[in-house]
Amino acid sequence: MYRYLLLLLCWLAQVQASPSLLQDAEWRAMRDPASYLAQLNAVSGQDMELFHARSLAKAAQGDYRSAQLDNARARTLAAAHQESTRLRDFELQQVALSLDTSAPDQALTLLARLKPALQDNPAQLAQWHALNGLAHYRTDQLQLAVAELRSAFLLKRQLNQQSKLAQLQCVQLLITLGDLYADIGLHQQAEDHYLDALQRNLRLDEPSSQALIKTGMARLYLDMGRPARARQLLDSQLANPALSPGRRATMLGYLAQALNAEGNGSAALRTLDQAEALYRQLGYPSPRHLLTTRAQALSGQGEQGQALALLGHAQTLDLAGQRLRADLLARQGNYPAAYRALQEHQADYRRRFNRTLSEHTAAFQAQMDLARSEGDNHRLVLENEQRRQQLVHQQRTRNYQLILVMLLLSALLLLGITTYRLHRSSRRLYRLATFDQLTGLANRHALLERIQRIWSRPGPLSLIIIDIDHFKQINDQHGHSAGDAAIARLGRLLGEWAPDRELIGRWGGEEFLVAIPLPATDCWHLAEALRKRVATEQQAGQAAMTISLGIASRESEAEALIPLIHRADMAMYQAKRQGRNQTVMAAAPRILAIRSLA
Ligand code: GH3
Ligand code: MG
Ligand code: MG
Repeated sequence: MYRYLLLLLCWLAQVQASPSLLQDAEWRAMRDPASYLAQLNAVSGQDMELFHARSLAKAAQGDYRSAQLDNARARTLAAAHQESTRLRDFELQQVALSLDTSAPDQALTLLARLKPALQDNPAQLAQWHALNGLAHYRTDQLQLAVAELRSAFLLKRQLNQQSKLAQLQCVQLLITLGDLYADIGLHQQAEDHYLDALQRNLRLDEPSSQALIKTGMARLYLDMGRPARARQLLDSQLANPALSPGRRATMLGYLAQALNAEGNGSAALRTLDQAEALYRQLGYPSPRHLLTTRAQALSGQGEQGQALALLGHAQTLDLAGQRLRADLLARQGNYPAAYRALQEHQADYRRRFNRTLSEHTAAFQAQMDLARSEGDNHRLVLENEQRRQQLVHQQRTRNYQLILVMLLLSALLLLGITTYRLHRSSRRLYRLATFDQLTGLANRHALLERIQRIWSRPGPLSLIIIDIDHFKQINDQHGHSAGDAAIARLGRLLGEWAPDRELIGRWGGEEFLVAIPLPATDCWHLAEALRKRVATEQQAGQAAMTISLGIASRESEAEALIPLIHRADMAMYQAKRQGRNQTVMAAAPRILAIRSLA
């Protein structure tokens, strides 16, 4: 019953609380905690975000106890609402508060319990690493601290770059890393981190972090033996009236150290007075190193007795104090005491040196490992990209080559096909232009060309014109195809009979012309043999056939081809007139008719 009433109240309170006031609570609390707290206190109600914001503002003011109470209230309400994500945020804030109140062991226990619940939330995980790093720093496990703070920084950098809070948290991580490196004497790394933090903080315009960075840097420059640079930084910050008293006290302490190092003891003493007054005002004991600084200032001014008295009263001294004390005792001639003091200093120094040395190595190792793995990753990414591009390029080139080869092949194929077709059709055309279809012998035109080619050769040359007798009758009686068959048969017989097949041609319808490089009488015998063969070799189913032949021989070298053909033609006609189936030899000037003996 009470539980439900409480939930109802919470809900009402949430409705009342202005949402804009609770937005960016971390950022507002850090920038101007006092006025933010005043605004928050003006709102009444039981809202978990309101308690959380109050806790943040109070922590920023240094009121840790009260901050812890508000944080506990926020956590109770988040648990009641089952707001598990917010509950984790508040628990992380609880860890931060226990670190602020110097309870690093408690913080480590809380962190170990929280870790498994944060795996899915990168922002919370980054915060966890930051807090874990700080906890290790506070418990002097510097190697782990460096590794954790670096991974927190890398995680945060990957997260929300835009949010001011995220950027501020990065700055704070860099400051912590700078402090850590300065503590173990890695001056260069410390300076790099401070400068990086300063650069980022300039964009944020957040004065309290800036003061923190400059304090760290001033201490670093004192360690590095550059007091003038340290003083310059401190003077510029101390001129700001809005500087918080705690920060001012710390800076005055370092300023006194710088003045001492520059030999200005009296100014150092005045500065120390101011610093200690501020510590008294704040209610904190002044830090150990201020005592040493005061003793150094006194000793520098010749007040060695006072300096020694100051150091002698202290319960514990820092290393510089121990050395100064031994030095002062020796100067007074108190050698046994000086020797003891020196031994004490050397034992402490060795302890610290050994620790610093191992931490130095460990931190350096961690740094190197990280740098190497970052470098390796970067290199691998670059190499992979290069290799990928090379592969893409190779693939593309191969594709182009393939396309080119295919195109060439297709062009060649096309060329081949076209050439083949051209060749085939030109052969056909040649055959058509040269040969007679029915007999396969040269046609009139081709035969004339061939005879012309051999015309100039010396020696005898005779022409025989052959004509089938009464061919019209064969056509008429047996049909046109029988006439064709008769022409083909005579062509075949001529091919078998003639001395040179090249010099036979179909002269007209059923007329043939044959050139024979023999004298007329030899030709006459040949012609007669043919005439007889045609007349006697009658085949079954074929029409009977006789032929008439006319022969003309070249009488002189000067005689032309066409008149010679004409004479042979005349001789053939004479054979027709004389009764057919006979050979007539043309003789210039008169024609001799020689009747066949058969
Ligand atoms: P002649 O004894 O006087 O030579 O008598 P002919 O009947 O043979 O007379 P001519 O030589 O003038 O006749 C030729 C005929 O041959 C005319 C034509 O119809 C026929 N002819 C021409 N070329 C062809 C052909 O390729 N095939 C066939 N079947 N007949 C043809
Ligand atoms: Mg004829
Ligand atoms: Mg005829």
